[in-house]
Amino acid sequence: MRAVRMEDVGHAIIDNIEIPVPGAGEVLLAPRYSGVCATDLHVLHHHLGNGPIPLTMGHEVTGRVVKIGPGVPEHLQEARVVVEPVLPCGDCVYCRQGLINLCPHMSHLGIWKDGSFADYVTVDANRVTVVPGNVADIDAALVEPLACAINFSDKAPIRAGDRVAVLGAGPIGLMTVQVLAAMGAAVLVSEPEPKRRELAQVCGAQVAIDPLHDDLLQMAADWTGNGGCDVAIECGGVSATVNDAFRIVRRGGHVVLAGNTFEPLRVDIAPIVAGELIVQGANATRWQVPRALRLISEKRVQPSKIVSQIYPLTKTVEALESAHRDKNQGKLMIEIETP
Ligand SMILES: [Zn+2]
Ligand SMILES: [Zn+2]
Repeated sequence: MRAVRMEDVGHAIIDNIEIPVPGAGEVLLAPRYSGVCATDLHVLHHHLGNGPIPLTMGHEVTGRVVKIGPGVPEHLQEARVVVEPVLPCGDCVYCRQGLINLCPHMSHLGIWKDGSFADYVTVDANRVTVVPGNVADIDAALVEPLACAINFSDKAPIRAGDRVAVLGAGPIGLMTVQVLAAMGAAVLVSEPEPKRRELAQVCGAQVAIDPLHDDLLQMAADWTGNGGCDVAIECGGVSATVNDAFRIVRRGGHVVLAGNTFEPLRVDIAPIVAGELIVQGANATRWQVPRALRLISEKRVQPSKIVSQIYPLTKTVEALESAHRDKNQGKLMIEIETP
């Protein structure tokens, strides 16, 4: 079968490898669409997680179950499913409390285990969820990043009508905007790339500000009537967006840090101390997949709005390069037509 393999740091190729065999409790999935995510770029260029190499990349996926391993419920045979790619150990003190994304022994599709940029992938049956009939494949493929956005939004006590800032409108920031808008929050976006600001407004942001050329804090003060935002969700993972998040919220407000980073940031903590801000990290997903599917099925969000290009599996390396090089675009997707 065809598989996009990370051969070395910064180097991926399309290769031919054996079709994996589903073990006990596993299913074999034929992916239909798989999304290109910043995490894939972190794996490829920074070797995030120090997983095994060569490794099949990709973790955001929908597809059809083509084979079930021993002990897997029959109803999953031929089912159209999405995958929650966090693979917790199931046995540690965190897993036993349902805090699966905090599992210190966690594995993850496309980081430590062969992923979904391939004709076939094996996944644990208890990590798949059946897709409702009215959810299109392209939207189903975006359930995982949507579930991450729900996780981020779960981390602060957001009320209808609250003013929420999203700092950084890459695909995950754009997903967060859709979730917040569906929750009844008013959303301000800060994003330097024009195409992403446009998409932010399509996703429901009231205002989209260019932090490099506009006076972000003054515009946010005007938008909130000088009170500051109730919540800021930081999706950039760089010093500028983190500092903006701390400065844009009101006193006593919440800041959710969701952007990943690979080097120490330079952060001014004065606004946290003086304003008694509540700062919370957010990572991956924790049982938000069923809610993500429900939001799509009920037409309260449409994640495929942010898709700017679909590549065939054979062009995945080009898609990864494009996502790395050009930030002025939305989500890139890989379409997989298994021969
Ligand atoms: Zn992802
Ligand atoms: Zn665990």
